[in-house]
Amino acid sequence: NVFLISINTTVYVFVFVSLMCLSESLSGARVLVTGASTGIGEQMAYHYARFGAQIVITARRQKVLQQVAEKCLSLGAQKALYIAADMASESDPDKVVDFAIEKLGGLDYLVLNHIGPSPFSMWEGDVDHTRWLMKVNFFSYIQMAWRGLASLEQSKGSLVIVSSLLGKMSSPFVAPYTSTKFALNGFFGAFQHELAMKKSNVSVSICTLGLIDTDSAMEKVREVTSVPAYPATDAALNIIITGATRQSELFYPWFTYIVSLTKDWFPSFTNYAIQKSYSYSP
Ligand code: NDP
Repeated sequence: NVFLISINTTVYVFVFVSLMCLSESLSGARVLVTGASTGIGEQMAYHYARFGAQIVITARRQKVLQQVAEKCLSLGAQKALYIAADMASESDPDKVVDFAIEKLGGLDYLVLNHIGPSPFSMWEGDVDHTRWLMKVNFFSYIQMAWRGLASLEQSKGSLVIVSSLLGKMSSPFVAPYTSTKFALNGFFGAFQHELAMKKSNVSVSICTLGLIDTDSAMEKVREVTSVPAYPATDAALNIIITGATRQSELFYPWFTYIVSLTKDWFPSFTNYAIQKSYSYSP
């Protein structure tokens, strides 16, 4: 018992000290979070606010952004500004980064998290939707990363990319979405190498998430799968810690790491398990 109590105490002290250090490094940090009107992005905005960061949030719905920004201020954000933008547009990704740099006087964290809505269904040949989704979920990410890079370089900042287990492993009903996440992993994996070889100051974190209980995700999968969903607020905090500690990868929840490692060992079994995890009859 004494042994267990001392382990528990050590863990609590470790978590407490880590949170204190994190809080110190994020207090006053200049952060841009995309897709922050709802879901994981909204939760990230609230966590950054509690740490006392200066935040710019963006998404398409101005009214909702305004409410999130107000809540951020009440939670302790030093600044909380918002800018409505559509990431399918050619110019909005640059406009948002420029706005954040101008209003915050630079950037310490650029957190790219937004996704466009996409149906959860068998692919029936809608190439236009896939092209549009690539713009929102992929091209805007690389555009914003490039636009913010010089400022991140100056501040020894961090670029955080929110990706998915579906960026490492294909799954039915999400062909356009999974393509955009594979594209992100490929591009930012290469970018990590290039920045390291150039001895850049900027860290790039790629976050692999499993199923998270946001409204938009649960609406799609609730009826068709029993895969467990993990809390958005916890996912959001893990993403923030990954960026703040400059780790190159996050796997949340933990078993996404095991799945990523082992999925190719027995491909027939993996494919069987994936297909069986959905209730579907043709
Ligand atoms: P949500 O669908 O809840 O939120 C998406 C956000 O993107 C909203 O703020 C939305 O706001 C914004 N958005 C949508 N379209 C556009 C657009 N055209 N231009 C600008 N902003 C847009 O997503 P989640 O919180 O569930 O997911 C967040 C991240 O986590 C994503 O990158 C996702 O791939 C990843 N992830 C999520 C998982 C999950 O199970 N939830 C699993 C694995 C990864 P608005 O409508 O106001 O524009």
